[in-house]
Amino acid sequence: MQTKFRTGTAHLFIPGPTNVPADVQRAMIVPMQDHRAPDFADLLGPVLDGLKPVFGTRGGRIALFPGSGTAAWEAAITNTLCPGDKVLMARHGQFSDLWAQMAQALGLRVEAIDVAWGAPCPVTEIARRLGADRMGEIRAVFVTHNETATGVTSDVAGVRHALDSCFHDALLFVDGVSSIGSIPFEMDAWGVDLAIAGSQKGLMCPAGLGILAASPRALDAMATSTMPRSFLDLRAMLGAHDAGSFCFTPPAQLLHGLRAALARLRAEGLDAVYARHHRLATGIRAGIGALGLQTVAEHPLFASDTVTAIRTPQDVDAREVIAIARDRYNTHFGAGLGPLAGRAFRIGHLGDLNEGMCLTALGIAELSLKAAGARVDLGAGLAAAQAVFAAQPLAPALSIAAE
Ligand SMILES: *Cc1c(COP(=O)(O)O)cnc(C)c1O
Repeated sequence: MQTKFRTGTAHLFIPGPTNVPADVQRAMIVPMQDHRAPDFADLLGPVLDGLKPVFGTRGGRIALFPGSGTAAWEAAITNTLCPGDKVLMARHGQFSDLWAQMAQALGLRVEAIDVAWGAPCPVTEIARRLGADRMGEIRAVFVTHNETATGVTSDVAGVRHALDSCFHDALLFVDGVSSIGSIPFEMDAWGVDLAIAGSQKGLMCPAGLGILAASPRALDAMATSTMPRSFLDLRAMLGAHDAGSFCFTPPAQLLHGLRAALARLRAEGLDAVYARHHRLATGIRAGIGALGLQTVAEHPLFASDTVTAIRTPQDVDAREVIAIARDRYNTHFGAGLGPLAGRAFRIGHLGDLNEGMCLTALGIAELSLKAAGARVDLGAGLAAAQAVFAAQPLAPALSIAAE
């Protein structure tokens, strides 16, 4: 049998899973351990504590579920709501759409606000719907903080303000799967009741953990919730976490990886992490603009600092751009999802990333676009991104304490 191989490294620019840093990979090469032994808490405790600042919470409780972000979506719903409850949410991309479908499938009444893919969560319309809800029927508002399909970031603080200004007591659910750990997320300050993340995006780990943070109000709602739940029972998992373990066999290697990844975020400093993502995203957007291409995000004000969805010219199939990048250049871009299939491709720029990697992404995007028939000037995007990066002060070297 022949083994296929390619020279050099594969370049992964999908918006999750993201690149896992070498020290995080090494931290996961450990023998299996007894998860019922008292010292398992020495691993779990620091992970739970280390996640709190990343979620921007002191008063919230963190629960880890084997699964992915989608599992945490479901856990948020089934642990706090009741069948037939009305929930309000905007659909403006694949992920907000899928979350609405899940809510419907689980027996909630979804009041959906459909807005253009490329627009953010419509805060004014949310405020209007909340204001019109005289009977207080809406039990929860769902916000997709960073719509990974379109590269659009929404104003969660604005939605909190809308709730408060109508004195509405609906719970606030926020999907932060592609934002938490990469762009500012302030669970407590924004009054978020259930915040959702996964291990494989900004947290720089393999997929395998759905992460849920619950506010004190969410924990109160758990007492009256009548949704069926079993594997994703939050009360049971929090109890197990209090006792230093999981309700069932935990993915211990992933916890070792997550502990190492959290140490990296602490060493860099969250503000520096957010500033780096903004700087790199600004370079990517400048490059795309210089190539004469449009982003799916309708305005730079709400363009995401973790993923950019790029429209291809009318006569260029984005699937071909992606295939050329993959097959010829060993480089992976995200597909256009749903109605954007064939019309857009995505560059994920989150997690363990630097200027050189972003220039690679842009350079390969230029080559692939050209080969797919787009009239782009090779190097124009690179030069624009380089100009952005050249104008930035040099980042300090980082150091990390050995475990
Ligand atoms: C990736 C993603 C999800 C789904 O997470 P999985 O880990 O794939 O289950 C949900 N929401 C957003 C915004 C995402 O980016």
